[in-house]
Amino acid sequence: MELETPIENISRIPASYKKRLEKLGIETARDLLFHFPHRYEDFSNIIPIAEVGLDETVCVKGIILEIQNRRTWAKRMFITEAIIKDETGPIKVVWFNQPFLTRSLRSGDNVCLAGKVAINENGLYLSSPIHEKIGKNELVHTGRLVPVYPETEGVSSRWLRYILRPILAELRTKIPEVLPSTILKKEGFLPVSKAIWQIHFPDSSEEAKAARERFSFEELFLLELLVIREKARLKKNKSVPIILDLKTIQAFVKSLPFELTTAQKKVSWQILKDLEKPRPMSRLLQGDVGSGKTIVATMVALNVGSVGFQTAFMVPTEILAQQHFQKVCQVLKNFETSIALLTSKEGKIFLPEWQEAVKAPKKEILEKLEKGEIKILIGTHALIQEGVKFKNLALVILDEQHRFGVEQRAKLCKSAKLIPHLFSMTATPIPRSLALTVYGDLDLSIIDEMPKGRKKIITEIVSPEEREKTYEFIRKEIKKGRQVFVICPRIEVPNGQRNSDWALVKAVKEEYKKLSEEIFPDLKVAMIHGRIKPEIKEKIMTDFKNKETNILVSTSVVEVGVDIPNASVMMIEDAERFGLAQLHQFRGRVGRSIHQSYCFLFTGSSIQLARQRLKALVECENGFELAEQDLKMRGAGDFIGTRQSGIPDLIMSSLGNVKLIEKTRETAKEILAKDFGLKKYPLLKQRLEEFRIKLHLE
Ligand code: ADP
Ligand code: MG
Repeated sequence: MELETPIENISRIPASYKKRLEKLGIETARDLLFHFPHRYEDFSNIIPIAEVGLDETVCVKGIILEIQNRRTWAKRMFITEAIIKDETGPIKVVWFNQPFLTRSLRSGDNVCLAGKVAINENGLYLSSPIHEKIGKNELVHTGRLVPVYPETEGVSSRWLRYILRPILAELRTKIPEVLPSTILKKEGFLPVSKAIWQIHFPDSSEEAKAARERFSFEELFLLELLVIREKARLKKNKSVPIILDLKTIQAFVKSLPFELTTAQKKVSWQILKDLEKPRPMSRLLQGDVGSGKTIVATMVALNVGSVGFQTAFMVPTEILAQQHFQKVCQVLKNFETSIALLTSKEGKIFLPEWQEAVKAPKKEILEKLEKGEIKILIGTHALIQEGVKFKNLALVILDEQHRFGVEQRAKLCKSAKLIPHLFSMTATPIPRSLALTVYGDLDLSIIDEMPKGRKKIITEIVSPEEREKTYEFIRKEIKKGRQVFVICPRIEVPNGQRNSDWALVKAVKEEYKKLSEEIFPDLKVAMIHGRIKPEIKEKIMTDFKNKETNILVSTSVVEVGVDIPNASVMMIEDAERFGLAQLHQFRGRVGRSIHQSYCFLFTGSSIQLARQRLKALVECENGFELAEQDLKMRGAGDFIGTRQSGIPDLIMSSLGNVKLIEKTRETAKEILAKDFGLKKYPLLKQRLEEFRIKLHLE
């Protein structure tokens, strides 16, 4: 076995685990070794059985005197009962519904048990403890600091511990040491072969912490190296300077039906000035949901077009592409700019002389694009497909991509003679420390102000008993002329799951049926989700925008960017199933005009953490503050969704650690100052390349 050995070729791992492990991002032996525990259970203190006390969580060691299964008649449940004994005395042990235990545990076995002490009429007993047979191998589930891992269905921490121990033993010495020895020495880090063992099976919590710090340092260090090198590389590149066309910009600002906020003016100026430089811009615009980023992007694209160059405006969903296209056409209709929409199959073109957009085959759009007859191209991932060639692409705008965009730019660049400028926009409040790490100080613009006249969105947690009341409220809002979103976590309940817990989670199709037939038969209800064809989706959104429907039942497809100013109620079913950032995004779909708006979080959950999270949303309206709160609660990964951002967990969880970030940056600078090509550090260089690929993976 090697580090790169795929999971399916590791004989100890059953084939059925391949798919499950993939969900955790684990595809190779290396991935498995680098799937780190997020916490440890402390079972290191093994105590004499005579000393266990009621309600304590204890770890004891002893010999099994007897063990058998019994079936309770009342609840039709299996109970496994055992007695274990050490030199200080015996204690009873009870497990529920694990009859298979008697196959692996027999009387006479020496075991270590960790769990809670309870009491019944016969005295104290251990209730469903974690068990481990004492053999020749060292303990991994009990009697120590026990690692607890991020899990997924069918992959438990117990299984991970069981599989990791032998694989670690075999591979730990094969992991290349990528950190230069000078750094190891200076920082007093454990060598990688020791650290990897200690992070999984630490001897003490100090060792665990030291190991984690080493790996956090390593990942941040790689990220810093990458960023510094990328920046230096870009600096050498030339880009088209886009001269500020002040007249056009002034005319544009004047033509708007509202006044730009001070923040919008400030960031527009920053961006337009940055574009005048002959080096590629790489800028992130952060602004909370509804702060008016699109108009800034439109203004910049207009400037690029008016000095004769092209802009590619890329968005994550079809719905958003349609919406942006409409909006951009509308605000630019008097500005002599040609605009096109390109989605997977077809698209639309808007030429200044036409007055309105018309459908066009993809081929026609591509031809016009190559001839430079289209100045602004809006679309989804279709923009980076083969065959899309620009005449003189100068600016790439990425909306809500949650990614750094370096790769997208690279793909778009293939057809460009010069490196285009890159400008990404996000409402996801990437913590400042991360943004700074990745973009550096100069390349971050922030809109920290909302358009005038917006009211605070009233957010409430709604319990099942208040459902009827909420429906009445919704009816009143609709009478006033407002519109309503209803969000469900999924599209439908698959047939096989009708009887599971999962069946209780709301689904779009069912809610749509219920709302349209039973609750609001007199109103117009529509539904939308990812499996609906693009043309029909577009029609549904247009109808909603034109106020022809009152209620739109949807999955998370309306999560980002959708702009329906007349909607005033956002109702979210099973709200605890969504992440905080996502909920904040949903909420941002309302409150986009002068109407008082509401966000109702439906939940039946009584789980503490889930409620705490929803409460944070009720109390806080500002995305940046929410992110910070969440960072404090549990680290940033959960807010942004590590998967979405593609940022490794360790980096995420180190973001609060400003000192560490500074240290890694300084170290990266020092190394690169002496050896920019990393010639002296081939292992580091190789790892950096792997890291780069992983980070930008689509
Ligand atoms: P986001 O930043 O979430 O992408 P949008 O760009 O979609 O926000 O803007 C939200 C809404 O606010 C849009 O309907 C837009 O026309 C409107 N808007 C943008 N800027 C202003 C402003 N300065 N004053 C009033 N309304 C504005
Ligand atoms: Mg937007």
